Amino acid sequence: MKAYPFDYIRAESVDDVLSALDRYGTEARIIAGGQSLMPMLNFRLARPEVLIDINRLAELSGIEDRGDHIRVGALTRHVDVARSPIIARHVPVVAEAMTHVAHPAVRNRGTLGGSLCLADPAAELPACMVALGADLVVAGNNGRRTVPADAFFMGMFETAVDDGEMLIEVLLPKSGPGTRSAMDEVARRHGDYAIVGAAAVAEMDGPAFRDLRLVYFGVEDKPILARETAAALIGQSWSPALAEDLKSTLAQDLSPNDDSQASSAMRLHLADVLARRLLPRLADPDGPHPSRTENESVSR
Ligand SMILES: Cc1cc2nc3c(=O)[nH]c(=O)nc-3n(C[C@H](O)[C@H](O)[C@H](O)COP(=O)(O)OP(=O)(O)OC[C@H]3O[C@@H](n4cnc5c(N)ncnc54)[C@H](O)[C@@H]3O)c2cc1C
Repeated sequence: MKAYPFDYIRAESVDDVLSALDRYGTEARIIAGGQSLMPMLNFRLARPEVLIDINRLAELSGIEDRGDHIRVGALTRHVDVARSPIIARHVPVVAEAMTHVAHPAVRNRGTLGGSLCLADPAAELPACMVALGADLVVAGNNGRRTVPADAFFMGMFETAVDDGEMLIEVLLPKSGPGTRSAMDEVARRHGDYAIVGAAAVAEMDGPAFRDLRLVYFGVEDKPILARETAAALIGQSWSPALAEDLKSTLAQDLSPNDDSQASSAMRLHLADVLARRLLPRLADPDGPHPSRTENESVSR
């Protein structure tokens, strides 16, 4: 199918984007990589009167080490995040997540900002932002504001970006010496959106968890921080006995969706499987851990 007709504005600056958003209001839509928006237009699921193309805004691209944090521009392509030595060294959970995001053709055009603003509940990068405690910088005609990732993702395809605003950049805290991270997911095929996934960032005190942000995606309508599960693990070292109690604490944290992909009970089971994969990796990164292929198969 073809998209409904629309006007097109090629923005040359952030101010251009903001004045177009001001002028056209909810009739306008920003286009970044177009990997999600173009199919939505072609299936006529979206009908903007104006598309504002931000692809010429070099100031929105790039990955920069700023001392205690890494700045990633909203227009930075997935492929550049995936290949960045700065990301691999300082925010390895994002580097690991990128191996699960779509396929090379999509990664060549898709952008970090597009993924975060789309806020698909099964997407990897929003969950990583919450696990890291990242800050997201949003610009509007009244200036810029910083939104913590916890508050940015508000629901299914819903973010804290208001009408007339755009995402400019993301500020990622660097991993410290005691920081460990891991992510994993269960998907029907590698590169598909997750049926259930999890991203975890922990501060370790030797083998014990000092702090833990375990975030699930594909489970509810937005990334979910498993607070009760983390609280039960703080101060503890990983052990098989600890694993026995995980499912009951996860049941306090998660109210999984029930849909054609997986039942609620199946999602809770997969959340437990993923926790048992990820938490030993955090506790002992060099130890033997079950490989992804060993328990990748999903039956319903
Ligand atoms: C076959 C296929 C498989 C995929 N698999 C996965 C997957 O496994 N995991 C995953 O996470 N994603 C997946 N994706 C989605 C992919 O990552 C998209 O590129 C991404 O979700 C959107 O990024 P984009 O730059 O293409 O955004 P666009 O499609 O251009 O825009 C998406 C939305 O974000 C808004 N937007 C974009 N940039 C900004 C900004 N700076 N400020 C405010 N609003 C903005 C747009 O207006 C639009 O509403 C897949 C896509 C395809 C086609």
